Amino acid sequence: GRLFFVGGNWKCNGTSEEVKKIVSILNSAQVPSKDVVEIVVSPPFVFIPSVKSELKPEFHIAAQNCWVKKGGAFTGEISAEMLLNLGIPWVIVGHSERRALMNESNEFVGDKVAYALSQGLKVIACVGETLQEREAGTTMKVVAEQTKAIADKIKNWDNVVLAYEPVWAIGTGKVATPAQAQEVHAELRKWLETNIKAEVAAKTRIIYGGSVNGSNCKELAGQNDLDGFLVGGASLKPEFIDIIKAAE
Ligand code: 13P
Repeated sequence: GRLFFVGGNWKCNGTSEEVKKIVSILNSAQVPSKDVVEIVVSPPFVFIPSVKSELKPEFHIAAQNCWVKKGGAFTGEISAEMLLNLGIPWVIVGHSERRALMNESNEFVGDKVAYALSQGLKVIACVGETLQEREAGTTMKVVAEQTKAIADKIKNWDNVVLAYEPVWAIGTGKVATPAQAQEVHAELRKWLETNIKAEVAAKTRIIYGGSVNGSNCKELAGQNDLDGFLVGGASLKPEFIDIIKAAE
């Protein structure tokens, strides 16, 4: 089976005091063992070194973004090489906030995923439709196009986790129902089977993100094609531990 995966995306939140508190909550929790769940937290870049040095080893670190190619004269960017140099194993790529607010196109996201993988990072690649797209009945078309733009640029899916994050569910408290999530996850898996190969479809973890919390996580986790979560708001709170425990 696929190892359950729980990521906590802290987004652009936190002071050093708040980060200390989150770290101590995580460090004092009894989390399931690493053959039950893979746990990743994603602090803002500036907090990564302290979080990495203070967190217990069962928590891995993901950056929230990285540059699309080798570093150099790209003011304000952080390169994949730098993340690796610091021993950061994971990066989130193509989050809907970056797609919408920083105009990251499908092709740009595909290039980023490819470059990060080529350097040895593991990638949480995000896809998801807006409310307008869902209401227009184009959900699957949109997420398939986003996934294809990534698939076109990579050959090996071993180090990719695909995160389905419907934009209308992010930060809204409007979580997808387990059936809605399962439907898209199953379609995405079918897409991988048809367009890549059966082995990739069977092995690739497809995780859900969008208003996941301590009370809705268990039922979502019970869906066949849902292999974990990418958590925003609730990853800054003690209930993140309950979400991790949904793996059990
Ligand atoms: P929320 O859990 O705050 O809805 O955010 C989800 C998300 O965007 C994780 O990347």
